[in-house]
Amino acid sequence: MGKKMFVANWKMQLSFDQACAFAHNHLEGLKKVADQSQSEIILCPSFPALYNVKQILKNTKVHIGAQTVSRHGSGAYTGQVSAQSLAQTGCTYCIIGHSENRKYQHESNVDIEQKCKELLKQNITPIICIGESKEAFEQKKTYNILNEQLEFIYTAITELNHHVKHYAIAYEPIWAIGTGIIPEVAYLTEIFAWLHTQSRKQTDTRFSLLYGGSVNAQNAHNILSIKHIDGLLIGGASLDFATFEHIIKN
Ligand code: PEP
Repeated sequence: MGKKMFVANWKMQLSFDQACAFAHNHLEGLKKVADQSQSEIILCPSFPALYNVKQILKNTKVHIGAQTVSRHGSGAYTGQVSAQSLAQTGCTYCIIGHSENRKYQHESNVDIEQKCKELLKQNITPIICIGESKEAFEQKKTYNILNEQLEFIYTAITELNHHVKHYAIAYEPIWAIGTGIIPEVAYLTEIFAWLHTQSRKQTDTRFSLLYGGSVNAQNAHNILSIKHIDGLLIGGASLDFATFEHIIKN
């Protein structure tokens, strides 16, 4: 099994100054936990802080990730940021398909496929979020939704096969994000076994399967004990270094 991945999704919770201060104030702690835990630790600040946070952490094994990317390579797309620019800041990971972007930016599965391809062309590891709404969960439509979302992801991975070294899929049930609600262990066991089989069947590259949604210092260990969960995508609990460190160490 590969290294466990711990992805801190800071969303728009930390300003430029706050993101830099986090990296600066916890430089030694981050260095130590990255050295000792044998895990892949990825901090995802908002765009303006990517380069500076990377510079602060340049002598550590901590990686930097973006929270989204343009579906286009370059051109007249005001306000957007290309995968090439991300790569030039030292960013080696990028979250795409987050449910907040699917909702507020109307990001579609086609957009996510394009974004995935743009990232792979720049050797940036995509962390692709999938997940169903509460309504779909209650109507037992989870697998329909996930199948649809995965189809586009596997198309991108297969088409750019020669560029892909590693990709990550983060299963984040929308009803678990920021709600304090965690799916049952039996439910997650079934979902991750299925995701593992699907990904093995569809692609022959290395992949990691992450869980995201209300992870905290109390529940992280149990979630990580579930077979085929290779890491965690952490929102709220990643904003406090002591909590984030506790999750990684345990
Ligand atoms: C997220 O939005 O990616 C997330 C996992 O958030 P939280 O941990 O706060 O539920």
